[in-house]
Amino acid sequence: MAENKGKILVIGGGISGMTTALEAAEVGYEVILVEKDPILGGRVAKFYQYFPKLCPPPCGLEINYKRIKPNTKLQTFVNSEVESISGDAGNYKVKIKTNPTYVNEKCVLCGKCEDVCAVERSNDFNYGVDKTKAVYMPHKLAYPSKFVIDRAACDDSCKKCVEACTYDAIDLDMQVKETEVEVATIVYATGWKPYDATKLTHLGYGALSNVINNVTMERYASGQGPTNGQIVRPSDNKKVESVVFVQCAGSRDENHLAHCSSICCLASLKQAKYVREANPDAKITIFYIDLRTPGRYEDFAAKIRSEENIELIKGKVASITEGQDQKVIVEAEDILKGVKIKMEVDLAVLATGMQSSVADDKKLPGFIKLDENGFIAPHLQKEGILSAGVANLPADVSSSIQDATGAALKAIQNVVRN
Ligand SMILES: Cc1cc2nc3c(=O)[nH]c(=O)nc-3n(C[C@H](O)[C@H](O)[C@H](O)COP(=O)(O)OP(=O)(O)OC[C@H]3O[C@@H](n4cnc5c(N)ncnc54)[C@H](O)[C@@H]3O)c2cc1C
Repeated sequence: MAENKGKILVIGGGISGMTTALEAAEVGYEVILVEKDPILGGRVAKFYQYFPKLCPPPCGLEINYKRIKPNTKLQTFVNSEVESISGDAGNYKVKIKTNPTYVNEKCVLCGKCEDVCAVERSNDFNYGVDKTKAVYMPHKLAYPSKFVIDRAACDDSCKKCVEACTYDAIDLDMQVKETEVEVATIVYATGWKPYDATKLTHLGYGALSNVINNVTMERYASGQGPTNGQIVRPSDNKKVESVVFVQCAGSRDENHLAHCSSICCLASLKQAKYVREANPDAKITIFYIDLRTPGRYEDFAAKIRSEENIELIKGKVASITEGQDQKVIVEAEDILKGVKIKMEVDLAVLATGMQSSVADDKKLPGFIKLDENGFIAPHLQKEGILSAGVANLPADVSSSIQDATGAALKAIQNVVRN
């Protein structure tokens, strides 16, 4: 029974953190969920479709939001980070810092603030491809469903949004809040970030307009994305007629990410399907080192490989440069045929891997032990410290959910034990 027992803290509100939090809260345990962004959902919220079923992420995420909303055992802190952790299993003392969003619960999403706002900022939800106003809705289906103000982008003297809001929902004097909680156990579900492809100078990312990474491709394909689902060349918005996917861009490379992220091959196959959907005549080439589509994903891979206009070539891409009309020139080797290849395409997509984001946490307590790839090493943690999903290792959504469900059970055991 949960009565009079300690609480569970979950750090990270992606699919894994939400799963752990909900599974524990729904059987009666007190859970605190801390997410650094103003919304829940993590990386999955930014996908166009999930493999293997190719359904849109809102299918799964919205169910979780609906479960979270009425659950009185689950307290959610968004736009928040853990400042410090002290104590031991059964009695961890945690300080949570909540940054202001400058919009309160009275927001009814009328959008009048956005209409009058004259300032623009880079849209982080779309990986910087387009812009939002300084007062913005992170995305259409965002949860919590409320506008946010990016004060760093604002002119402090401007009060246009305050004047336009007839619901008194904007409070530019909102302050940082600190909350102290005591918890019995802590679950890290801090997930991943895309590997910084600007470090792969030979592949042209950042220098050439028509070289993008795989997470940005998700936003191009999405009907809610910056191009309304049109897959176009960033340089001139022309429909893409030919695409190269570069597998292991920085992955399995001691100088970059030594590990295999295990899902990038599947992600590129999925994205090849996006390109075909947008333009069935587009020519798609995937350069891979080893095609990793384990277990039940073999069928998914086989189905997409059998589609017209998709060619897979075993070989490493040596360089990407720019040709005339900002075409992308890809030089590679076909290992199986033993020949060098040079091709000109409209767009190159770098399949960058998943890098653990836990090390970005400047306040990460010294007692949290990471493995050689920067992920949390579950077996090295002190009592009461757990981890879930991609915080542990790169994985697909369904494995992350299974892992997060297991973490909920372990967290409950820690509560009961202490
Ligand atoms: C290009 C690409 C496509 C993919 N497509 C698919 C697919 O189609 N199907 C599939 O099954 N899998 C896919 N995946 C894998 C999928 O993204 C992961 O399985 C999933 O994101 C794991 O969720 P998570 O909650 O563990 O991590 P995340 O989604 O990264 O969520 C972590 C959350 O923690 C928050 N956070 C981080 N640090 C802190 C902190 N210090 N304090 C508070 N909060 C913090 C983050 O803001 C985020 O909200 C894909 C991966 C890539 C790279």
